[in-house]
Amino acid sequence: MIDTHAHLDMAPFNKDRTEVIVRARDAGVSMIITVGIDLESSRKAIRLAENYPEVLATVGFHPHQATGVKKADMAKLAEMAKHPRVVAIGEIGLDFYRNRAPRETQLQALQWQLELAERLDLPVIIHCRRAEKDMLTLLHDWTSSHKRLNGQPRGVIHCFSGALETAQRYLDMGFFISFGAYIGYPSSLNLRNVIRSIPQDRLVVETDSPFLPPQSHRGKRNEPSYLPLTVGVLTKIRQVSPETVARETTQNARHLFRWTESE
Ligand SMILES: [Zn+2]
Repeated sequence: MIDTHAHLDMAPFNKDRTEVIVRARDAGVSMIITVGIDLESSRKAIRLAENYPEVLATVGFHPHQATGVKKADMAKLAEMAKHPRVVAIGEIGLDFYRNRAPRETQLQALQWQLELAERLDLPVIIHCRRAEKDMLTLLHDWTSSHKRLNGQPRGVIHCFSGALETAQRYLDMGFFISFGAYIGYPSSLNLRNVIRSIPQDRLVVETDSPFLPPQSHRGKRNEPSYLPLTVGVLTKIRQVSPETVARETTQNARHLFRWTESE
């Protein structure tokens, strides 16, 4: 299995980061994508990817961190993205639920980073909360105006929890859909139909560690070794074997991040 979205650089892992990564491997998680949220965290993500063979990194500004992002920062991200273990620009996006940064600022930071991803020919990791209308418009413009990623996955919608027709629009634009442990929360029953409808070649899994722990660990820290619990939930909803979900989502994650190197 591949955990396509974790924040291993964050403080909750400071005391036992190596043990967390070893536990993940023992649980069958062969690779972890650790995701940057600003320059500092992206730098840390790269350092982790250098130090652990099962870790790959992404670089980007999270919408919560959009305040103060300047066009000149794109050159810094571009420099970092040249690193051979950086596989995507992310996480980037819009969060009109928490609104920790002004909307205009979020939209500008996202626009710049989409342009950067296009220039660097890298997939993107998209965070979207209560901003689907703007996101669909922006991504539609982005995907129709450039052909650089033609034939290659353009990116992934992380922690998807929207409607079936929204998922369909992302799929039509060439995006993958990622689910985390929240699909096992009682409040996520309405997602079952969406989860069943995602084509098997577009589905990936994530933990979003240290956030969004599985139902059985709620209120505690999440970590990549819990990924099999999410695969278990998918197995029940999609009525396929855990081996099938594990194999397909692993292949998809490798395709998405263009990671062909053998482990
Ligand atoms: Zn995240």
